[in-house]
Amino acid sequence: MLSHEIAHVVRSHHLKILQKSQLLDFGAGLLSKKLGRDNQVIQKVIGSGAEVCARSLDKSAEFEADRMGVVLTARAGYEPYGLPEVLQIIGQTGKDESSVALLFKTHPHPDDRLVKLDDAVGSRLDNIKDGKTLSERFYHLKN
Ligand SMILES: [Zn+2]
Repeated sequence: MLSHEIAHVVRSHHLKILQKSQLLDFGAGLLSKKLGRDNQVIQKVIGSGAEVCARSLDKSAEFEADRMGVVLTARAGYEPYGLPEVLQIIGQTGKDESSVALLFKTHPHPDDRLVKLDDAVGSRLDNIKDGKTLSERFYHLKN
């Protein structure tokens, strides 16, 4: 899960969403000036447009963060199947369960994420399934 979040930072996903919403705010400001701030039709179009943009970008960003997260995990010497294991557990948990409700709202369904991960990674990480031990992981630091 940590490497998934690191991947979001490395790929500037949140920054891109912010930039996109600032662009939408700028466009909304221009339209409001031209057509009047109270034009409800314009406000509705802008609102739903912003929501669609944020959602579609989020979904592809989440799949990318999963793929990159698994690779980062493997490169750091950890067991790369930690994320798929967690996704399986979350997928079996009801989406109304308070501990995972927010995750279901902000991320694609865990089953979809598992399918996408399987498509991208397949069995390519099977040979490093167990990961390195702690001392192997820090070997270079000690010497
Ligand atoms: Zn995420």
